[in-house]
Formats: sequence, structure tokens, C-alpha cells
Amino acid sequence: MQTWQVGRFKITKVLEFPIEVGLLDGLIAQLTPDTRHEIDWLYPDYLNESGQILADMHCFVIDTGEHVILVDAGCGNGKSYPMQPIWSNLDSPFLERLAAAGYGRGDVDVILCTHAHLDHVGWFSMRDEAGQWVPTFPNARLVMVRDEYERHLGQIVEAPEPAAAGTTEGADEVDLIDRAFRPDVSALSDQTRLIQEESFQPVVDAGLLELVPIDGEVLPGVRYVSTPGHTAFHHSVRLESDGAAAFVTGDAFHHPIQIARPEWSSQGDWDPVASSRSRRAALEAYVGTDVLFLGTHFAGLTAGFIVEDGEGFRLVEKAATEA
Ligand SMILES: [Zn+2]
Repeated sequence: MQTWQVGRFKITKVLEFPIEVGLLDGLIAQLTPDTRHEIDWLYPDYLNESGQILADMHCFVIDTGEHVILVDAGCGNGKSYPMQPIWSNLDSPFLERLAAAGYGRGDVDVILCTHAHLDHVGWFSMRDEAGQWVPTFPNARLVMVRDEYERHLGQIVEAPEPAAAGTTEGADEVDLIDRAFRPDVSALSDQTRLIQEESFQPVVDAGLLELVPIDGEVLPGVRYVSTPGHTAFHHSVRLESDGAAAFVTGDAFHHPIQIARPEWSSQGDWDPVASSRSRRAALEAYVGTDVLFLGTHFAGLTAGFIVEDGEGFRLVEKAATEA
């Protein structure tokens, strides 16, 4: 299991599952057979020999010594994802891996969420023995940026009636990429409603949701940093302890190729120009520093340090401690 020490904070990557090879092909439009060999440092951790995207679904645990913080919550088990059926009804050993890292369900006391998409909210809840959705981490406050949560709710409230949203006829013939990144509005609102019912509502009902302002501080040394673009109020996470620091990307970066080419946005970005601006600002802030840069979907070594590389930047991998 990969761990990193940042001051007094111990960071652990807990894998949920490797994202299926091929599923994210097309996510970054400029990554084509012509361009995929341009950046050799992406091989073999981040692209396979065929130039296909390698990526992970994982969560980071930040152990501050006083608090155990989960940053983003994966897809979860048994969830309903019409927008991404391949991640519906999962039965992954994520909680077993978390326990192997030394953390039980009762130990996590804070959850942070970079944005309210299905692959970042799943482990907010799980089914109990009676089949009811309950908070997975009964002692954890879910601390979210208010605008991100309200925007997510607004997608349900403002969604048009399914009849007005176009036909879903032939939807089964649409490939997964198309369905995931260019959904029709009725699928989007249906998905958002399911995310609310299955993942958020059990936490809300338990009185565990806490909303903070944009760029809000969560705990000493732990704060949200606004990185809009993937969603309107997307936030990354900044950690500081004893003079050391780290930055958790969330989906401001989906893949390390966006370090080399920050202007290459993802098809799933709400505002690709804004997301490109957020990436460049983060890279310029951290280039040449010893701030540990942790990718929320980065496979392989997952984290490193930012250095200049031609017009763009490069992630210099530092071997993680294998526990
Ligand atoms: Zn994601």
C-alpha cells in the first residue's frame, strides 16, 4: 500500500479498483494515436503500450494524528449508476483494504469531497443488514463546499421533465464513453437524484453534513482550494503540516498528461476553459517546490513533484513508501 509522510500527516492511498482499460479512451480529445507518444514519461505508469489511459479509482486517507480524513469516496458498493452502468452494483473489497491500512469504519471522522460526481461520493453510504442505506462512517462529518452541494441539488430541481429532455431510445447502443461524458439531460438528472437518495441523504439524515464556504478551512492545516472547471465549484485539497505541504487534485486533473499539457481538458469538464486555467494556476503555484502533488485518478506511483518541462510541466515521481 502506498503511503507518504507530509510533516506529521500520514497519507495512504486506498485502492477501490483500477479503471477498466479502454473506458477512458476519448476522455481527453487531444490524446490521439498521433500525440500519445509525445510525452515519454507517461509510460508505463500512466499510458499502456497502445497509448491507452491507465487510471485508478482510489481514496486518500489523511491521518493527522488527531483526525482521520477520507478525501473523496469512490463509487461505493451496490450503487445505481445509469450513467456508468459498469460501476453500478460493485462489490469491491475497499473497506477491507481500508482496514488493512489500519482504519476501521469508526475511525474516519472527517470526509472531504472535491465534487458531487458519482465516482467521488459512493462510500458516503452502504447498505446495512436490513438493506437500508446508512452512513459508512458513522462518526464522520462530511464537510463539503456549500456551492458545490447546492449546485448538485439544483441539477435535480431544475431538470426538465423526461419527456422534454429528448429520447433515450437506442441508449443501449451508445458506448460507455459517450454515455458517461455526453449524457442526455434526463439521464443526468436521474443520476443526480440517485446520487442524492443513495449517497448523500443517509449522511444528511444522520446530521453529518457540514457545508463550508468556497476555499474553506476544514481543520488546522487542511483546506479546500477552489479549482473550478470540472464542475462550477470544484475544489482541490491543500494540506500543510510542520512546514511540509501537499495538494490533492480531485478531478481538476484526471490524468498526468494534463500536467504536460494543462490546456487539454476532459470531455467531462463543465467548463473546459476554466478547468485549463485552474490546472495552469496550480502547476505554476507548485512548480519547483517540494509540495507533494497527489492525483485523485493517477495510477502507478500516483504522486510526485512538479518541475518545468518545455512548454508544460512534468511530474517527478518519488518512490512512495511501500508498507
Ligand atoms: Zn472522478
